[in-house]
Amino acid sequence: MLSSESILQNFPILDRKINGHPLVYLDNAATTQKPLQVLYASRHYYEAINSNIHRGTHFLARLATEAFEQARQTVASHLNADSSDEVIFTSGTTDAINLVSSVLTLSGQIGKGDEILISTLEHHSNIVPWQMLCVRTGAELKVIPCDENGVLDQHAFHELLSNRTKVLALGWVSNAFGTVNPVREMTAAAKKAGALVLIDAAQAAPHLKMDVQSLGADFLAFSGHKVYAPTGIGVLWGRRKVLEDLPPWRGGGEMIKEVTFDKTTYNDLPFKYEAGTPNIEGAIALASALDFVNAIGLDEIYSHENELIEAAADALSDIEGVRLYGPDDRAGALSFAIEGVHHYDLGTLIDQMGVAVRTGHHCCQPLMSRFGITGTTRASFALYNTLESVAALAAAVAKASKMLR
Ligand code: PMP
Repeated sequence: MLSSESILQNFPILDRKINGHPLVYLDNAATTQKPLQVLYASRHYYEAINSNIHRGTHFLARLATEAFEQARQTVASHLNADSSDEVIFTSGTTDAINLVSSVLTLSGQIGKGDEILISTLEHHSNIVPWQMLCVRTGAELKVIPCDENGVLDQHAFHELLSNRTKVLALGWVSNAFGTVNPVREMTAAAKKAGALVLIDAAQAAPHLKMDVQSLGADFLAFSGHKVYAPTGIGVLWGRRKVLEDLPPWRGGGEMIKEVTFDKTTYNDLPFKYEAGTPNIEGAIALASALDFVNAIGLDEIYSHENELIEAAADALSDIEGVRLYGPDDRAGALSFAIEGVHHYDLGTLIDQMGVAVRTGHHCCQPLMSRFGITGTTRASFALYNTLESVAALAAAVAKASKMLR
């Protein structure tokens, strides 16, 4: 277990009392709290170096540019990318996936008869952009089914994969059920079939090491705010050759080499995909968050959280009428329902006891439909949670459930 004292000191928000109770924050899959060093990085940027980047000749512009490009390097080494040119700053995972689906649409390389393969576990942001691509290109969306435990059916996946598959867009970790998909194996199979592969790593980033070279995919997307950084910053990593061959997306400053009224030539990577002033402070704070995570170690974080999830699964299972969703092996999130209790009522009541969880469809309506439910209650864990958080969750759920059943 990680030492909770020294970690908790980094998160002043966790000292808050909610309705007279100590805050038990278990909504980390939605967004994580931010450690002091990330808050300081944001503040330091605005206090000491705020300036627009790249084009300025003055001192602060150089400082801000250096800090922003250093942040890109930090992300690149965190991902073990070949080069920081492959790291594009976006506003988040949603923005990154829309970038890829939009440039693939514009590229003209996808059309009628082609297929886009996703899975039943996907978040809406890895479904809707592909549906929009399908409407615009005439391609067809195919969906890998999952079993009763929320595990993808590998046999069905291999059956669905063919030379018509142009893209496999796959979540690494399910935000709804915590399922960890075998992304390396599935990526290898899709690459063999000739597809491009995008990995939605929004829920992997806070829990797992991400090595884009061993992963073998073409694109990987994640959001800063789920990995202890601010909202409004995210990353699209893309394989250089693939990005170079795709057309630009948003037009504007920064993404150009030369503009005349007749014609524009486009900038090299990564600037080709970063039109306009980026979230400079966000990128710098993201680098600080990754440094924070790496100083603790993702393996340590994963095993700490795993212990908590297992303890939570055990404790919740003792409550009458509880059904847990997802496989035994979960990362980050634990979803459950109580027979005869609406998840919204449960979430509202345990909030009165200081326990913050998420209820509802978790932006996974098709997955909820697959299970014939409208939603679940989801407790999701971060490195600052403790066995006391688990005990508080279980006690609050048991109490609320008695009141509601
Ligand atoms: N994919 C997954 C698996 C997610 O959990 C989320 C956020 N809940 C997203 C994509 C979208 O991330 P964002 O809202 O930060 O763009």
